[in-house]
Amino acid sequence: MNCATIDATETASRWGRQLTRNISSLKDQQFDVLIVGGGSFGACAAWEAVLRGYSVALIEANDFGSGTSANSFKFLHGGIRYLQHLDLRRLWSSCKERSAMLRIAPHLVKPLQIAMPTYGHGLRGKEFLGAGFLAYDLLTVGKNRGIYASRKRIPPAQFMGRNEVLDRFGFVNPTQLTGAAVFSDAQMYHPPRLVFSFVQSAISKGACVHNYVQAKSFIRKSNRIMGVLAQDRLTGESFEIRSKIVLNAGGPWSERLFRDSEGRDIPDAGVYSRDTCFVIDAATDEQYAVALQGSSIDTGAVIDRGARHLFVVPWRGKRLIGVWHILYDKSPDDIQVSEDELCRFLDEINGVMRGEKIERDQIRMVNAGLVPFGASDDTGQELDFGKKSHLVDSARVHGLEGLITLIGVRHTMARGDSVKAMKIVDKKLRRSGSTPDSSKLLLLGGDVDDFRALKNRIPSTLEGQGSVDLRSELVALYGSGVDKFLKDLELRDLLRRVESADITEAQIKLAVRDEQAVTLGDVVFRRTPLAAAGNPGEPVLSSCARIMSDLLGWTQLRAEKEVQSVIARFPTAAHSGRVSEPEIESLVDA
Ligand SMILES: Cc1cc2nc3c(=O)[nH]c(=O)nc-3n(C[C@H](O)[C@H](O)[C@H](O)COP(=O)(O)OP(=O)(O)OC[C@H]3O[C@@H](n4cnc5c(N)ncnc54)[C@H](O)[C@@H]3O)c2cc1C
Repeated sequence: MNCATIDATETASRWGRQLTRNISSLKDQQFDVLIVGGGSFGACAAWEAVLRGYSVALIEANDFGSGTSANSFKFLHGGIRYLQHLDLRRLWSSCKERSAMLRIAPHLVKPLQIAMPTYGHGLRGKEFLGAGFLAYDLLTVGKNRGIYASRKRIPPAQFMGRNEVLDRFGFVNPTQLTGAAVFSDAQMYHPPRLVFSFVQSAISKGACVHNYVQAKSFIRKSNRIMGVLAQDRLTGESFEIRSKIVLNAGGPWSERLFRDSEGRDIPDAGVYSRDTCFVIDAATDEQYAVALQGSSIDTGAVIDRGARHLFVVPWRGKRLIGVWHILYDKSPDDIQVSEDELCRFLDEINGVMRGEKIERDQIRMVNAGLVPFGASDDTGQELDFGKKSHLVDSARVHGLEGLITLIGVRHTMARGDSVKAMKIVDKKLRRSGSTPDSSKLLLLGGDVDDFRALKNRIPSTLEGQGSVDLRSELVALYGSGVDKFLKDLELRDLLRRVESADITEAQIKLAVRDEQAVTLGDVVFRRTPLAAAGNPGEPVLSSCARIMSDLLGWTQLRAEKEVQSVIARFPTAAHSGRVSEPEIESLVDA
């Protein structure tokens, strides 16, 4: 099974299609498929749809990947935990998706080993966990098929001795510790960039994609959805987008769009968990994440009952800790993590760490988002309650043709669930012929033969000065797209660090010129991870805003507002910070 290779000419022409804003392209035609929402699910769906030869539009109300997808814990799960439930179907589908991402986006996804400390000889002992991990390895023997770079292959389960565990992770409880069983999952380098690479790949094959365009309501004629009434949030202009099929992939906002427009509900989709994790300033072993057995908190509100695992994960030289699940009935626009909750989460993690206490002021970033806690079958016909994405064909459920809803439950499943959604589209549009297998097709940027050689082509002047190895970061974020920085004269001249920052001027220029970045947040949270693990400092943000001002003609007031809106995202001594940036309208008027 070979990943489809892309020849150099094709790659160049695909990169040539830039993400420039041309709203009239949305108005001028009837699309086969219009996707509402540019999170992980919408982006994957756009890629699936163009691969089938459909004319495709995607609109995103904010920035690509700025919703739940930007707030994730960054794992692409291989499904090992489903072994516990003996749910082999989910185990295999999760594993298949993890392998697909390692294959098609090898620059943005890498394996990460997870050490699970073992105690005694019972259910938490090496023998029991080892047998489980071995069973997982046997059940997933084909998981590395088509993944050629050795560093991108999922290694088999291993064991670690007690002393090594204590040396590597000083915070693990030593009482009755026997060592650790080690399994692997995959970690996304930067989830919004992975979302964006699906968007870019879709554009490279002709999709018409715009951020800051919001679907306000569906256009219905009799019992058929014909498109949406949309609004360009940068200008306020309203217009119609016509399409044979609308795929509502608005994440936790999907239901509200349907309800507001149609006055009806999507059955059983309405229970959400607010998942939360946070980044703390503290070095950790870069090679391993650690799973610690938490204790039950929020009695009655915590979905995963009993002592569930909390994970301490290395990310950008810091530690990412989570995930907490709490049933949440407020709007996705109103997601907050209260100070009380944050302190309880801290108490819980501190309660299971030994010899180390995480202080509140070590928290650099809080991520939270709504994830559905419900399920449907694969055809969208029968809904039941579980932990799968909601795929709803409104023709079957509401007697309304032309509308499909896909509310994703795990970033991991975005590609696979999009394939399922497209199967429904194929039937409706009576498509025949072969379908490219996107689990084997490299995304734009993914065609890297030799990561080290690619890194060595980047000027060594980018080394040092900052906390991140910028040459490795460029390779991880852009993959073969690094060529663009080296060959495009405008960008090559700007391939230098913004003073004391882990970003180059060339990245800012590229984001604004070719990647539809409109705000400072678009650049520092999503096109690059400069601020994704916490505040890089006001001087750095101001320098980036100055560069964007030169490119976009911002006033001084706008630049200041942009910096403040980014800063509002970070925790203060008394507040966990905003989960997203302020509405775009409050910035564009400045
Ligand atoms: C704390 C946390 C940790 C997590 N960890 C993991 C993990 O480790 N691994 C994993 O696989 N999953 C994880 N998840 C789940 C994962 O993040 C989500 O399942 C996934 O991101 C959902 O993607 P989505 O595209 O459905 O939704 P979103 O990312 O929310 O995208 C929906 C998009 O639609 C847009 N939109 C909404 N309404 C409209 C409209 N009317 N017009 C136009 N656009 C609209 C929104 O702006 C948004 O960008 C985690 C989630 C959280 C919150």
